[in-house]
Amino acid sequence: MRNIPYSRQDISEGDIEAMADILRSDFLTTGPTVGKFEDSVKDFCKAKHAVALSNGTAALHICMLALNVGKGDIVWTSPMSFVASANCALYVGATVDFVDCNLQTGNMDIVALGEKLEDAEKNNRLPKAVVVVHFSGRVCAMEEIHALSKKYNFAIVEDSAHALGAYYKDGTPVGSGKYSDITTFSFHPVKAIATGEGGMCATNNDSLAERMRIFLSHGITRNPDLMENKPHGPWYYEQRELGFNYRITDIQCALGVSQMSRLQEFINSRLRLAKNYNEALQGLSLILPEIDENSGWHLYVIQLDDNAKISRLELFEKLRSFGIGVNVHYIPIHTQPYYEKLGFASGDFPNAEKFYSRAISIPLFPTLKQEEQNYVIEKLKEFLA
Ligand SMILES: *Cc1c(COP(=O)(O)O)cnc(C)c1O
Repeated sequence: MRNIPYSRQDISEGDIEAMADILRSDFLTTGPTVGKFEDSVKDFCKAKHAVALSNGTAALHICMLALNVGKGDIVWTSPMSFVASANCALYVGATVDFVDCNLQTGNMDIVALGEKLEDAEKNNRLPKAVVVVHFSGRVCAMEEIHALSKKYNFAIVEDSAHALGAYYKDGTPVGSGKYSDITTFSFHPVKAIATGEGGMCATNNDSLAERMRIFLSHGITRNPDLMENKPHGPWYYEQRELGFNYRITDIQCALGVSQMSRLQEFINSRLRLAKNYNEALQGLSLILPEIDENSGWHLYVIQLDDNAKISRLELFEKLRSFGIGVNVHYIPIHTQPYYEKLGFASGDFPNAEKFYSRAISIPLFPTLKQEEQNYVIEKLKEFLA
């Protein structure tokens, strides 16, 4: 019986060696390797600052804190995402709302965003921040969103959990901060690179970077320039904010540095596999993702079209029963019971709901063998015939 997951990490002997070296060194948690990992991501993304922390969800929470989003503020995101993209606003007491997605890409619909902003301005309900999500690694229309942010004065957070290694249309890397205030990444094993758990915030803004560093370690600073009082001595630190322990470890960062050296290779493999799928799956009752050379190809999401003779559930179960680890991304956030209790209901964001009703994520990861991909293709053709 086969057992092909929809995604998985690619760990080399070099990765293992790098981690073992840390276990033999002086620092297990915040040591010199955290900074090395931050530098490797910063250099890749061409950002001024990169702040490593415990996971991608913590990264989003820290963004809200650094941007001073809180009670009385409104944050918008896409319903076609993982719950963390919206939860971060609730953590700080803000109100969440959603902008429906594009039916083809799953990304926030730029027309819907423009219209919602126009309405919100009239009703005095403009968002303080918008969390955009590069669904599946395909980069959102950032030039347009950035222009809207200037017109309506909101901060932009790019939840780039899917898009490390992706590029904007102008060829600059996601994370460069060209179109947003902060970009967040996740290094969960299904994402572009793995550190076990792990996350990063990239920004070009000095004071946001400084605030993020304070919030991820209890709200404490050891920098005399940032203190209210005169230091009592060399041991002195001050708590300036109510922060958290969102630190990442040197052990994880050693894996991160080693993985970053292969990021471009990982992305190239993902693109090659996506192109194979697009060629081989033509002519079936499927809506295929358009090939975009700039995407990070975190996910390959097929949608059953209206002519399909099999339901999504049936296709999903058949593929699973043949050892093909499919998944569904995502159950629209606003339809989760927790969000329904906040007042959202089915029907609120019809594109996200339609996308969800017919989507399946099929296996896509750098170590997927050609023979395995052929098997996935063969089974899809068989079940969709
Ligand atoms: C994975 C993911 C997160 C959360 O990242 P963690 O590291 O698992 O906390 C947030 N947003 C999106 C879109 C994700 O896919």
